Amino acid sequence: MAVETENATATADGSDTILKARTDKREYRRIVLKNSLEVLLISDPETDKCAASMNVSVGSFSDPQGLEGLAHFLEHMLFYASEKFPEEHGLFKYVNEHGGSSNAFTSTEDTNYHFDINTDSFDEALDRFAQFFIKPLLSADATMREIKAVDSENKKNLLIDSRRMRQLQKHLSREDHPYHKFSTGNMDTLHVQPEAKGIDIRSELIKFYDDHYSANIMHLVVYGKENLDKTQGLVEELFQEIETPTRVFLDFLVSRVL
Ligand SMILES: [Zn+2]
Repeated sequence: MAVETENATATADGSDTILKARTDKREYRRIVLKNSLEVLLISDPETDKCAASMNVSVGSFSDPQGLEGLAHFLEHMLFYASEKFPEEHGLFKYVNEHGGSSNAFTSTEDTNYHFDINTDSFDEALDRFAQFFIKPLLSADATMREIKAVDSENKKNLLIDSRRMRQLQKHLSREDHPYHKFSTGNMDTLHVQPEAKGIDIRSELIKFYDDHYSANIMHLVVYGKENLDKTQGLVEELFQEIETPTRVFLDFLVSRVL
């Protein structure tokens, strides 16, 4: 049986029962917003921190040929600013000032964004977070700054043995497999080479976002202090605007059928 609410559906039959330990006092609910975003809500009245995590099922395997590191670069740019909250690294600063932390990572087929924060500052932080996926700024002036940030992250990685081993393994893998590609990105792959070929990296960044950041391939977990109904209302209000472009949705349906 499906329980319908204004903006979301939550199935309440056996297939959707969330199993938990008897000692676990927290309450859980799975909902799917009308834009196809799947959400796990958790209510813990005793917590002193709230948290959220958004997983987008796209990663470095989807980097266009010749633009290695684009998915990772986009991850940085979403953290930079949004149209509603244009202050540089606004969410990062906000959660730091309110007892929390934030981070993200880009893997081969997923990009994950997450934060935690004191309970009384959660609603605003969640609003700032939702805007990453609704209207990120992706501004021209931020582009070079974040390419430099990615480049310095890569330089730091060069000194870590496990990272060096992984890159060697990638280099030795089949050239026609996406695993072969360099995935972190650096000044060369994100600026020098594209510029030499006349490629506008910011246009490619916006295209990558438009092509891949779609609600139907996102999964959100929200851990709140309030009851499930209240947290559900907040999530519906803040995340309903994430789009699922028609073309992306059709590709998704075809991939499910084949
Ligand atoms: Zn990074």
